[in-house]
Amino acid sequence: MTLNIGVIGVGMIGREHIDRLANKLVGARVVALADVNAKQAEAAAAGLPGAKVHGTGEALIAAPDVEAVVVTSWGPTHEAYVLAAINAGKPVFCEKPLATTAEACLRIVEAEVASGRHLVQVGFQRRYDKGYRALKAAIDGGVIGAPLMIHCAHRNASVPEAYVSDMAIVDTFIHEIDVLRWLINDDYVSAQVLVPRNTKHTHAKLDDPIIVLLATKGGVRIDGEVFVNCRYGYDIQCQVVGEEGVVSLPEPESVFVRRDAKLSTSIVQDWKLRFLDSYDVELQDWIEAAKTGKVNGPNAWDGYFAAVTADACLKAKRTDAVAPIVTPARPAFYA
Ligand code: NAP
Repeated sequence: MTLNIGVIGVGMIGREHIDRLANKLVGARVVALADVNAKQAEAAAAGLPGAKVHGTGEALIAAPDVEAVVVTSWGPTHEAYVLAAINAGKPVFCEKPLATTAEACLRIVEAEVASGRHLVQVGFQRRYDKGYRALKAAIDGGVIGAPLMIHCAHRNASVPEAYVSDMAIVDTFIHEIDVLRWLINDDYVSAQVLVPRNTKHTHAKLDDPIIVLLATKGGVRIDGEVFVNCRYGYDIQCQVVGEEGVVSLPEPESVFVRRDAKLSTSIVQDWKLRFLDSYDVELQDWIEAAKTGKVNGPNAWDGYFAAVTADACLKAKRTDAVAPIVTPARPAFYA
């Protein structure tokens, strides 16, 4: 069976996902597109035989031939589209963030629970990365015993002027927020943010680097460095320290060169290249799960929990204090 998909938002990641769905993955076809910029949608549709451009995202969701929806529009529009897809009973893959406030994410959780069907997946693709999966398999397999601490780093070579302080949490560290609690199967209870001396490469509206400290229900302590003007490349590090040993995220594959009395290897420069394979695996898995009414990946509750954690990190930074992370009990629906 081929899943007929409608994509809302044909910007940077939307066009990449369309290319994946149309040319790389199996079992799906893109039959509909919508974007506030109609010309952009028309241009994307030109490469997709039979795909129809709808005037609004809502019209796309309501179209009878659209069986599942991919939301890759601007973050503040996510809530309305995801809620509309739930109301229409259609599976929806929503790029992160699920919504731009924790309250909006909770409304989505409540709507999905009320619908009684598992329909929502959030685009936290790191859970599909080969390296993170190997790390999780080692932890789940008891290789290091009980986890005690996680040291991690999220470094970008540089960011544009439009990138300001809050984005280090809500756009960048948000990926660690999701993947780390999945890695150790634990939830966070508090956050703190430390602000070291700024790098000379930052600008007036960006504290860079920062260190985020998280504590989990199970007593694990996490320190996460976010350094988005590190200059040398896109570098994701993660080391989990357990009672019996230590496991680290593998480095991306790269050849070693021995030459001129030096041993060298290269570091990826582009985040898209670092996680290219995981986006493919993520969407293929979503296609297969959507056909059988399941959600295997990060669900609406995970999207909500990430939003609550990000809010706590922002508050902790603003107040220079430890901020508690409090949510209602996880509904049994998401057990
Ligand atoms: P983008 O290039 O700005 O694309 C967003 C697109 O949505 C644009 O074409 C925009 O049109 C359109 N749009 C805005 N409002 C809309 C509406 N009401 N209805 C329909 N379309 C609308 O942004 P992007 O970088 O692709 O990011 C899109 C989303 O993906 C964001 O939530 C982002 O956080 C997420 N993302 C996730 C990852 C990841 O690693 N998982 C990576 C990148 C992006 P205009 O240009 O005319 O405004």
